[in-house]
Amino acid sequence: MAVATTPYQEKTDEQKAICEMVRQFADEQILPNAAHYDSADEYPEPIVEQMKELGLFGVTIPEEYGGMGLDLTTYVMIVEELSRGWISISGVINTHFIGSYLLMKFGSDAQKQKYLPRMATGEIRAAFSLSEPELGSDVQAIKTSAKKLDDGRYEINGQKMWVTNGLMSSLVFVLVKTDPEADPRHKGFTCFIAEKEAGVSENTGDHAGLTVPPKIKKLGYKGVESTELVFDGYKCPAGNILGGEDAGLNKGFAQMMDALEVGRANVAARGVGIAQRALELALRYSQERKTFGKQIAEHQAIQFKLADMATQVEAARLLTHKAARMKDAGERSDLEAGMAKLFASEAGRFCVEESFRIHGGYGYSKEYEIERLYRDAPLLLIGEGTSEIQRMVIGKKLLQRNKI
Ligand SMILES: Cc1cc2nc3c(=O)[nH]c(=O)nc-3n(C[C@H](O)[C@H](O)[C@H](O)COP(=O)(O)OP(=O)(O)OC[C@H]3O[C@@H](n4cnc5c(N)ncnc54)[C@H](O)[C@@H]3O)c2cc1C
Repeated sequence: MAVATTPYQEKTDEQKAICEMVRQFADEQILPNAAHYDSADEYPEPIVEQMKELGLFGVTIPEEYGGMGLDLTTYVMIVEELSRGWISISGVINTHFIGSYLLMKFGSDAQKQKYLPRMATGEIRAAFSLSEPELGSDVQAIKTSAKKLDDGRYEINGQKMWVTNGLMSSLVFVLVKTDPEADPRHKGFTCFIAEKEAGVSENTGDHAGLTVPPKIKKLGYKGVESTELVFDGYKCPAGNILGGEDAGLNKGFAQMMDALEVGRANVAARGVGIAQRALELALRYSQERKTFGKQIAEHQAIQFKLADMATQVEAARLLTHKAARMKDAGERSDLEAGMAKLFASEAGRFCVEESFRIHGGYGYSKEYEIERLYRDAPLLLIGEGTSEIQRMVIGKKLLQRNKI
């Protein structure tokens, strides 16, 4: 047997310190207030303000632009802690993180200088928009289009759907069709950085032609808004094509798919966070509740549930960290990010349901936190690609990597 030379460590000292800080924030600020914002479906502004102060909008943005300059692995650890508190809070920074990733990887120097410093502080926040009323999984079916005008600007027309942070964002990274004749279709899409006014439904002036209808009423994932976006003659400068017009025109599909890879590691971390919280609630309740003269935790059937939940949490966390570490090492991690997203989102649903069962009738009451988790968890099965789509990605990549 090999002799261990270094003790096993899941996190570096820096990662431990940051995670402890975010866990304390979740325990003191998010968990005690989540029920209020959830039941009122109200934007958790005071929590968001504190997140700005903690620098959480700039975790992965380089220090030269005012961010913390941390890697994806540390970011997913932070997202797990926030999601353990409430997945809507991680939803506020999720699309912002994807937007900053797109800028860091594909943005021109001018775009980075213009947006990243204000994104790092949370002064301006970003949304990410692919989906439309008639499509989600089939991104190449996008109909929203942009046409170049004589004055050099582009006019965008069409309707987007399910835009997280659709109202409160100031920037929307939006994928639209710019070459209807392109074959294959994915070579005809461009990512625009559409500027808008935060918190305003009818944009005017430079942003006229972009309307944000009232937020969509949802099963869970409350507090953070999901909206449609209606582009009707919205004019966007050519300089707002991601990467600039020369480098970015008709390159948007590949850019957005690259961003989805990190987005999937991010959603996986949210699955780990909600699963972890469901396990904690089950561990506590099962030692408080008694049936047949003993704690329900003493019944083997309940212990087996706890064992399965804890095993799923641990496996989901390891897959998520692996996907993030590979990306940080500069390796392709599409397969691993797909596996992490699939497994961790399903683990989230599984652990929440098991914890709900352990709570018996009380799990159905709004007095108990597990009721909120039960409504929140299913989102993770859908956003950033459904479980069916993850299996398609994993299967395709497996065959590519193992071609005979
Ligand atoms: C709360 C919320 C927030 C969201 N936020 C955003 C956001 O910020 N930005 C954004 O762009 N989008 C966002 N979305 C949209 C989300 O990404 C889509 O809902 C998701 O990709 C699924 O698309 P769809 O709803 O159109 O389902 P469809 O694509 O219509 O799929 C319907 C069903 O068919 C299955 N299916 C589809 N194609 C196949 C296939 N080829 N093989 C097998 N099964 C298949 C799916 O898995 C699913 O079960 C959000 C959604 C929700 C609910």
